[in-house]
Amino acid sequence: MNVGSEKQYGGLDRFGIIAAILVIAIHTFPLLSISEWADFTLRQTIARVAVPFFFMCTGFFFMQKLGSDRNRNASMLKQLLWKVGKLYLLSILLYFPVNVYEGYFTDGFTLLTAVKDLLFNGTLYHLWYFPGIMLGVCINTFLYTRLSTWNAFWVTLLLYGIGLLGDSYFGLVHFTLVTVLSFVLSVLAMKAIQRFRGGKPDQTGRAWADIHLPHLQHNVREIQQVLPKDCAMMAVVKAQAYGHGGWQIARFLNKLGIDHFAVATIDEGIELRKKGVKGEILVLGYTDERRIRQIARFKLTQTVVDDEYAQTLNGYNVKIPVHIKIDTGMGRLGESWEYTEKIAAMYRYKHLQVCGTFTHLSVADSLEASDIAYTKNQIDRFQNVIEQLKEKGINPQKLHVQSSYGVLNYGELQYDYARMGIALYGMLSKQGDKVKTSIDLRPVLSLKARVVQVKQVEKGAPVGYGRAHTAQKDSKIAIVSIGYADGVPRMLSQVGATCLIRGKRRPIIGFVCMDQLIVDISDIEEVQRGEVVTFIGRDQEEEITAEEMAQSCKTITNELVSRLGERVKRVYHD
Ligand SMILES: *Cc1c(COP(=O)(O)O)cnc(C)c1O
Repeated sequence: MNVGSEKQYGGLDRFGIIAAILVIAIHTFPLLSISEWADFTLRQTIARVAVPFFFMCTGFFFMQKLGSDRNRNASMLKQLLWKVGKLYLLSILLYFPVNVYEGYFTDGFTLLTAVKDLLFNGTLYHLWYFPGIMLGVCINTFLYTRLSTWNAFWVTLLLYGIGLLGDSYFGLVHFTLVTVLSFVLSVLAMKAIQRFRGGKPDQTGRAWADIHLPHLQHNVREIQQVLPKDCAMMAVVKAQAYGHGGWQIARFLNKLGIDHFAVATIDEGIELRKKGVKGEILVLGYTDERRIRQIARFKLTQTVVDDEYAQTLNGYNVKIPVHIKIDTGMGRLGESWEYTEKIAAMYRYKHLQVCGTFTHLSVADSLEASDIAYTKNQIDRFQNVIEQLKEKGINPQKLHVQSSYGVLNYGELQYDYARMGIALYGMLSKQGDKVKTSIDLRPVLSLKARVVQVKQVEKGAPVGYGRAHTAQKDSKIAIVSIGYADGVPRMLSQVGATCLIRGKRRPIIGFVCMDQLIVDISDIEEVQRGEVVTFIGRDQEEEITAEEMAQSCKTITNELVSRLGERVKRVYHD
């Protein structure tokens, strides 16, 4: 699912197309037949800003990945250099015939001229931008991470000056013109980016989810406070981070120093990697063994669910990191705790590098005595398996057992990771759930849509599909642009649920439709087309929590938020 974030850079795409056309113009002399002056203005001045623009984009996307961790920066730089370097090499090969045709490598051929031609003359003439990017990114990474902004500015100016001295071809005025134009366009591009990125409320949105990142950060800190000292958070970002946007949330958590993630499927893992998420990514679900090469390529960690699967994976001769899953009473994925021999076998495959062992609790959310007993039994079974493995001389590596409720109700447990899902997003699964260690969780997501039409209906008039609602008196209704395809359950209107308009609760009436729903607004004076309607979140003094909405439709918040549709635009607020 694309949660609409590529669109955040929509402005860049448009500039990109314009810049590409300008680059073509540089090489095709389109205005020369009209006048030399027009040709010069287009080709040597306007079109020349295309190149700085492309370089700026490279810098923009690369620099924002840099953080305070030097090793990480270095490894990212290496990755980019390697990627661009590979393209460069490929392009050199591609251009080789052209260069030969133009006389390079043939006239007075010696080894020295061949190397010179390959690295500089013919090749560099056509492909200068590849080494340009590589050198530029190195210089910029250095400036950006080692110097203050002002010092970086002075050094840049100096480099500009040196460039100017070295280039007699450009006149000073001409140079200044291109520079100023580049600058103006880059400012415009930046403005476009800012417009397309979160922050400012969008006046045109139909249905959207505001994602409040400071609350996510707050929840991370709150959870970290109650985790044992040596226990790291493994952020569960499956199902698009419970509807919050998978890679956006993971990248933000990366910045907070979180470097363990869990997803449900290999494709979710691949998406995170493609978007530059760092750290361990554990695929909790089953992956078809034929995709093992992708597991390796994208450096994912696969859950091994039983010995047969382990054997099959191992048969591919591809080395991958894995975690071993033990079923201790959940009755879902994992090798059953009773089969210790089979479990032990899973650690002995040459190509499976076991990095962890885990289990999942099925009633950690309940504080009923019998459920507590069941959970303790699950934990005992897990410990038992671990002991037996150790007796056999097997190292089970990192251990993890708890998810959100496991941490909140069994905080005394000492494991290496805690797999945090729902709590990270500032919710409990059910309204009014009691937990042993309650922490201050702040909801990250709010769900909103707009009034798109207001109308009067007479007493006795049916409203919506199936005439499910009949106006009890002359009333005013608002049609709102969100429906069950966006994740608002169809039966919400049948259980007396409300939404917020102008800080007041308003009943949802009729059945929720696929794309719209209807709200009774009889006793509010003026409601205008375009007004914001809140389904989850706060409006003035009133608040509807995800827990409340989930309770209304007899489900849990996990289901509610993970089913928010693709059409619901996620808007990120720093
Ligand atoms: C989804 C999931 C979690 C996260 O659970 P929360 O209750 O949302 O914290 C942890 N472990 C496994 C195996 C899961 O599937």
